[in-house]
Amino acid sequence: MQGLSVLGATGSIGFNTLDIVRRHPDKYRVISLSANQRVAQMHQLCLEFKPQTVVMVDSQAAEQLKLKLMESGDHQIQVLQGQQALIALVREPQVDIVMAAIVGASGLLPTLEAVKADKKVLLANKEALVTSGQIFIDALHDSNATLLPIDSEHNAIFQCLPKPMQKGIGSAHIKDNGISKVLLTGSGGPFRTLPLEQFNAITPAQACAHPNWDMGRKISVDSATMMNKGLEFIEAKWLFNLSPDDIQVVLHPQSTIHSMVQYKDGSVIAQMGNPDMRTPIAHAMAYPQRIDAGVEPFDFFRCQNFEFGEADFERYPNLKLAIEACRAGQGACTALNAANEVAVEAFLQEQIKFTDIACINADVMQQFKDTDIDCIDGVLQLDSQARHAAVVLVETIKERI
Ligand code: NDP
Ligand code: MG
Repeated sequence: MQGLSVLGATGSIGFNTLDIVRRHPDKYRVISLSANQRVAQMHQLCLEFKPQTVVMVDSQAAEQLKLKLMESGDHQIQVLQGQQALIALVREPQVDIVMAAIVGASGLLPTLEAVKADKKVLLANKEALVTSGQIFIDALHDSNATLLPIDSEHNAIFQCLPKPMQKGIGSAHIKDNGISKVLLTGSGGPFRTLPLEQFNAITPAQACAHPNWDMGRKISVDSATMMNKGLEFIEAKWLFNLSPDDIQVVLHPQSTIHSMVQYKDGSVIAQMGNPDMRTPIAHAMAYPQRIDAGVEPFDFFRCQNFEFGEADFERYPNLKLAIEACRAGQGACTALNAANEVAVEAFLQEQIKFTDIACINADVMQQFKDTDIDCIDGVLQLDSQARHAAVVLVETIKERI
């Protein structure tokens, strides 16, 4: 029986993780859960999974949850609030596995703490790795933690890698393992064929309606702009110790192949299946074993054609920016991620247009791309400066609209 802590339990990845737990009560026990402010969802999870501790980062939400738990007669569950409580949560000795599924750079400190506490860390929160890069990987190497990717592409790549590379995540070399390229697939999102002149009028509801995956709102917008693939490009660089030239983005609208590894001898190994996040989550939770994830078996007789193509940077300027950031260095990556979080939120609040996201991202990245970062305080400082610069740009655009 392994003890589990789910950070971001009320989100899409949290929901899918807890579905795996529900199917395997003999293997996993929920020790702790965390969220920001969705109290009703967290209350339901408390009733079902009976965690020992819950952290609501938002203090009002924590008070409301305490009241609700008293009303429902659940007096044993400890409810805490704030970032510090989140960080303490992952250190608990009963916790063996930490699912890092907070959205955005807010997940960085607790995820890093889980690594330092030698846990088995399941990384969904790609922004944590994008914003801190080498610092995160160094912390991993200084610890006895195990890091496993949850992002479907990175989990697919991991599955296609030889054992020495799986064991040496973040440090083993593809060149020593007969690999020539990592092929990162992406569907192209809901606007793959939309005429470019209509991009200005895209609404948040349209951007959040992904054709193949059901996800949280931020990553859904990132998928529509393909910033998600850009963040994944940077994530792949760190997880698999790659240079930007080792990674190729391949459009694959059906999302059946979740990514591939190309070997020197011409072989291409792909991981495929139905687009259901329970597959990578179950893979990582049980690794190196395999368990039932409740996913429909793939039906080859009903599958559509497999299509492949190249991503067009005019349609997806955010993907271009992220690849440039990956080449430029940590300052560019941290600033780009922060700007993007602000711009996406402003788009979701209908304060800016869909096409403004890339303009804000480009401007902020340009301002901070030469900043050197060598410690976590440096990451946090740049993150906050870049957010501030992005907010200023949002305000300027709002005045124009
Ligand atoms: P959701 O928006 O569905 O969920 C986010 C979770 O994080 C919620 O539990 C939310 O709490 C919590 N949260 C939000 N802000 C904070 C904060 N400041 N401090 C602490 N907790 C916070 O996102 P997803 O589940 O879709 O995505 C989570 C992560 O996984 C992202 O990094 C995403 O890129 C990655 N990912 C997601 C995939 C997917 O299929 N959804 C696929 C691959 C990667 P509350 O509900 O209270 O707001
Ligand atoms: Mg992904």
